[in-house]
Amino acid sequence: MKTVGFRSFALYILLFAFLGGVGWLVFSLLLHGGQWAMQPYNGHIYDDNPTITLGEIQDRDGAVLASTQEGRRVYSESETARRALLHTVGDSAGYISTSAQYTLRTKLTGYNLITGLNDTVFNRMGSTVRLTVDQDACVAAYNALNGQNGGAIFYNYKTGDILCKVSAPSYDPENVPEDIGENPDYEGVYLDNTLSGSFTPGSIFKLVTSAAAMEKWPDTWSSLTYDCWGSEEIGGSNITCLGEHGELDLSGALGHSCNLYFAKLANDIGAADLQKTAEKLGFNASLSFGSIEIAKSEAPLSGSNQNQLGWAGIGQYTTLANPYHMMVLMGAVANGGEYVQPRLTGDSGLFEGLGSGGSRRLLTSVQAANLKALMRSNVENYYGDSFFPAGLNVCAKTGTGEVGETQDPNCWLVGFCDNAQYPIAFAVVVEDTNNSLGDAGGVVSAVLAELTA
Ligand SMILES: [Zn+2]
Repeated sequence: MKTVGFRSFALYILLFAFLGGVGWLVFSLLLHGGQWAMQPYNGHIYDDNPTITLGEIQDRDGAVLASTQEGRRVYSESETARRALLHTVGDSAGYISTSAQYTLRTKLTGYNLITGLNDTVFNRMGSTVRLTVDQDACVAAYNALNGQNGGAIFYNYKTGDILCKVSAPSYDPENVPEDIGENPDYEGVYLDNTLSGSFTPGSIFKLVTSAAAMEKWPDTWSSLTYDCWGSEEIGGSNITCLGEHGELDLSGALGHSCNLYFAKLANDIGAADLQKTAEKLGFNASLSFGSIEIAKSEAPLSGSNQNQLGWAGIGQYTTLANPYHMMVLMGAVANGGEYVQPRLTGDSGLFEGLGSGGSRRLLTSVQAANLKALMRSNVENYYGDSFFPAGLNVCAKTGTGEVGETQDPNCWLVGFCDNAQYPIAFAVVVEDTNNSLGDAGGVVSAVLAELTA
């Protein structure tokens, strides 16, 4: 009897272990089934299995960006379009993990818990996904980058539609370069610079310092004046400016992008208050775009000395900016202080939610209106409206982020069109160049021309 009792006890243990295992399997399948199905190591899904048909990916006008023909994944007809849209659409090996082909794989395969992927009875087709991007605008951005590395992202700040998203370096997904692993030209090629890159902001950070002044002195910020004589010792060593601007108020200082004005202003604001405003605007925060974690914009200022704080106030020192975040911030300025969540598809539930869960208000409506006026003055009085397509009322700020001795700076242009017909906000960064308005501004101008044609 003793032996039988022990055997049934052992059987019960085995039974519980088995049921527990089955339960875990079902639970995991429910949770991760679609992701497992499209992992890169399941290469057959992309390659030669005719029983799996990935759905089409289209642009906002229905142009086919990716489709499956005879079991093979093919992309846009033109090679330039394939390169321009690589990071947004995706690659056949699944290396670009922020792409639509990767993040929307469950929808594209039509993966289904009941039938799984190997369904031959119903000859199931994957679903079509229509993206919000415009293929021609992406091509315009890629061409305007002209072989330089960087990122360009544009969205409609009223609807949230991402209209253009391009990252370089890139490659043709239908002719993957054989030396992609060794050639330094392809370093970081699988990363989308707009989502996964953060760059020294340079003078675009002067917008954050301006917002901090508005927060600290809401009634008197516009009449704060400082002198610039080209170079001045602040906190033990010199901070230099590109010009000798004399006495300036904030609007003039932003237009001339005066370093000494903003270095002194940052010190009068103080590290704690400057960092507090930066954090209100989304710096030092983890932002997400659907399932994608966005690279952080950073402004860690505590413990900085006067000289470091001066450099931070002009977007140097340890400050970093991410293009997606800069675009959202520009959308908030354009939109009365509150941003609209960007999206890459029209479907709800895909690429929704920025992760903060709370308010989308980054600035008061008064602060937003003041920043808008300052940025409009930049274009009207300093950069020139003729630089952009006519009638768009562009508001913008240039930036030149110094990155060290061996490489030229990162050049930025961030801003938006203050235009009811074309409510477009943007952030463009071009690496290793000295010409913000010429290079980053050239990309903005080319894309706006395409989007408003
Ligand atoms: Zn100056």
